Amino acid sequence: MRDRYSIYVHIPFCRARCSYCAFSSCTDLNLQQRYFDKLFEEIEYYSDKTKPIYTVYLGGGTPSAVGIKYLDALFCKLRTCFDLSGTEEITAECNPESASNAVLACFRRNGVDRLSFGLQSVNDVTLKAIGRLHNYHDFLCAMERARSFDFDNINADLIIGLPESHSDFIHSVLTVAKLPVTHMSLYALELYKASPLYAKLNGKAPFSDDEQADMYDEAVQILSCHNFARYEISNFAKAGKQCLHNLFYWQEGRYFAFGAAASGFVNNTRFNNPWSISDYLSTPVEHLHDGRCEEIDHDEEANEFVMLGLRLESGVSLSEFVARFGVGFWDFFSSANDLRDKGFLVVDGDCVRIPDDKFYVVNSILSELWQNADE
Ligand code: SF4
Repeated sequence: MRDRYSIYVHIPFCRARCSYCAFSSCTDLNLQQRYFDKLFEEIEYYSDKTKPIYTVYLGGGTPSAVGIKYLDALFCKLRTCFDLSGTEEITAECNPESASNAVLACFRRNGVDRLSFGLQSVNDVTLKAIGRLHNYHDFLCAMERARSFDFDNINADLIIGLPESHSDFIHSVLTVAKLPVTHMSLYALELYKASPLYAKLNGKAPFSDDEQADMYDEAVQILSCHNFARYEISNFAKAGKQCLHNLFYWQEGRYFAFGAAASGFVNNTRFNNPWSISDYLSTPVEHLHDGRCEEIDHDEEANEFVMLGLRLESGVSLSEFVARFGVGFWDFFSSANDLRDKGFLVVDGDCVRIPDDKFYVVNSILSELWQNADE
C-alpha cells in the first residue's frame, strides 16, 4: 500500500454559507482566479511522478460551484504533475443546485467516476432552515442529470440531529435508501459556537446524544434492509461501492493534499495547510506546512493504525498488527483486555472490532484505548 498515494484537493467555494458550516469555505467567487493560481503553484511544487496515484478526491466547499475552466485546468495540472494513469476512483463533491450539465460533462471528461452530493435532508423546510440552496426536487433533478452522464456511483450525505423531528430524519433515510444511490454517509450534526445555527438554537442541540444514537440505530436498520452495508461508522454502501479513497485513508494510506485547510500524509509526516483561505493565499508554497507538520513515530503509527481501523466494520487484523509493530495488540493497549471484558471490543477470527451495538460510541472507546496505549 505504501508505494501508492491518493490526492485530496480542497475547493473552498460555495454559493451560500450553510448556517451550521464549520469548514474552510467562502462565498466570494471573485477569489477563484487567485485561489486556483495558488493551488496550481502548490501542486507543481509537490509534483511527484514516481508514486502511482490510487484515488483522487475533490472536496470542499463545493467543487461543483466553481468555473469549469478552473476544473479543467486543475485536472490538467494533476495529470501533468502526478501519475494518474492507474487511478481507480475520482470523486467530486457536488451540491444539487450547482451540478449543472456543463459541470457534470466537465467531471465526466476529466475521469470523475464518483459523485458525492450534500443532500442533508429530504425535508424542504429543514433545508431552508439550515441555509441550503437546494430543495429535494433539485436533488432529484441533479441525480437525473448525473445519470444521464452515466454516473452510476453516487453518494448522498444526510445529517443526524438537524432541527427537524425524529420522523423527518427517518423519512429522509427511507426515501434516499429507495433511490438509485450506491452509497450513503450519515453524519451527526456538530453545533459550532460561531455558527448562525448555534445562535438560532440558543446553543441547544435539537436532540440529546441518546436520542441521536437511537436515530442512528434506526437508520442502520433501514439501510441494511435496503442492501446498504455499513463499512465504517458513518458510511454505508451497496455491494462493491465502498469509497476507495476513504477506505485508503482509514487503512493509513498516504496522500498528498492541496488547498486551504487540506491535511496530508506523505512518507511518515502528517501536515496541515493553513486553515483560512487568506492565510493559504499569502503563505509561500514552500512554507505551507511550517509549524503544522508532525513526523509519526513507530508508536504513533501503531496507535493510528488501530484508531482508524476500529472505525471500520471489519476492524483491525491482530496478525497484521504484530507483523507491522512487533508487539501484540493486547500488550500494546493496556486497557484493551478490560474493554473486551466489558463488551466494547470483540474478537472475530483474526480481527478485533467494535461490536455492532457499540458503534455509535466508537469515539469514547477509542479515546479509552488511546489514553492507555503502551503505558
Ligand atoms: S456546502 Fe458545505 S462547505 Fe459550503 S457552506 Fe455548506 S456546509 Fe459549508
